Amino acid sequence: MEPVIFEERQTQIHRKGTQPFDLACNKDSLAGAVSQRACVFCGSRVVLYPIADALHLVHGPIGCAAYTWDIRGALSSGPELHRLSFSTDLQERDVIFGGEKKLYRALMELIERHSPKAAFVYSTCIVGLIGDDLEGVCKKVSKKKGIPVLPVQSEGFKGNKRAGYHAACQAMFRLVGAGDTTGISKKSLNILGDFNLAGEIWIIREYFKRMGIEVVANITGDGRVDDLRRAHGAALNVVQCSGATMDLALMMEEVYGIPHLRVSYFGVEGMAESLYSVARFFDDPEMMARTRELVREELAELYPRLQEFRRALTGKKAAIYVGGAFKAFSLVKAFRLLGMEVVLVGSQTGTPADYQELHDITDEGTIIVDDSNPLELSSFLKEKDVDIFVGGVKERPIAYKLGVGFCDHNHERKEALEGFVGMLNFAQEVYNTVMSPVWQFVPRKVRKAA
Ligand code: SF4
Repeated sequence: MEPVIFEERQTQIHRKGTQPFDLACNKDSLAGAVSQRACVFCGSRVVLYPIADALHLVHGPIGCAAYTWDIRGALSSGPELHRLSFSTDLQERDVIFGGEKKLYRALMELIERHSPKAAFVYSTCIVGLIGDDLEGVCKKVSKKKGIPVLPVQSEGFKGNKRAGYHAACQAMFRLVGAGDTTGISKKSLNILGDFNLAGEIWIIREYFKRMGIEVVANITGDGRVDDLRRAHGAALNVVQCSGATMDLALMMEEVYGIPHLRVSYFGVEGMAESLYSVARFFDDPEMMARTRELVREELAELYPRLQEFRRALTGKKAAIYVGGAFKAFSLVKAFRLLGMEVVLVGSQTGTPADYQELHDITDEGTIIVDDSNPLELSSFLKEKDVDIFVGGVKERPIAYKLGVGFCDHNHERKEALEGFVGMLNFAQEVYNTVMSPVWQFVPRKVRKAA
């Protein structure tokens, strides 16, 4: 099969080394191209749902509620209200006469039944079309029930997934500042952009604890409404997955003067540098010494085991397609540590700065792609004859149909991949997949030479 690249998408694909780098990105998906991207509502949903003691109500037709807890299986150490999916299930009658009354009744009943600390109400495409007054209904219910009821303006059609992140941050920001910050340590921070998949935030919290730092709020993995309300008492915001929660960090910086650091908990370099950058921020020699000791201890255990995987994997080829480009940086470095070559890398929501950085850290010949679709990805995987494809649930069938190994590095993963221990888990998973004997029976499809 020849590469299937629509004329209008040519500028969103770059082959490093062939021409000056100028990748178009952060624009609406091409109609009809069946983008791998999710909608605005899904963008909001994946950011907010890990808040475990809040009610999450999708105002729209039942189909939108197909995005359930499972698409980002955020774990909670306490309440698990976030695992329940609620929808107002709008029907033709509601579309004609409006869905506000139904929404009001649903909210009143659900709050009565589940006693949440707050409620998030998600607007979907149809609600944007019929013009229900979400804000008005939420205000009324909030007054009656005495809890924050927050509209999330996430109509699916109003932009790309990044617009959903922004809507989620705006909703969360309405909670920040309402809580008591008495007793919060000067050496404290909020963790932004970690969603506690497979318990990852617990690994990171433990590192910060060993460094002598108090974590005020998890935003949003294993998140709690009351913690968000006092998050403005922290000295620092550390932001991973910059697309999802960066807007909240910027709002907190502007209003409360809290600085932020971009971090990554994936890969050895990313993890170590993240901890060091936090220690440097607090400018405390004892904390820096504790951090060095922590990194030394973790690496002493990790490196000998990584070498075993490296011996087997050196020279194998990897392709990466993830939601946020920031994760892709760490993955490129992690594969390099394993001796592997990254031949394709792309994201759904990268910015020009993200793609420039990807361009800088990748090898000549690497394909860099923004907002791709199944036909393009299949074509690139065949052309580059990759051994493993890293992505999420929508990329998995593409890999398997081509007889290519797959590693889930997205919201659905069940294996902790963050932290030093996460790097080991990642190496193990890549090794198991690439070296699996199953590939003898599933011949890989590669593009035939012309
Ligand atoms: S909000 Fe719109 S695009 Fe998103 S799932 Fe619902 S109908 Fe589909």
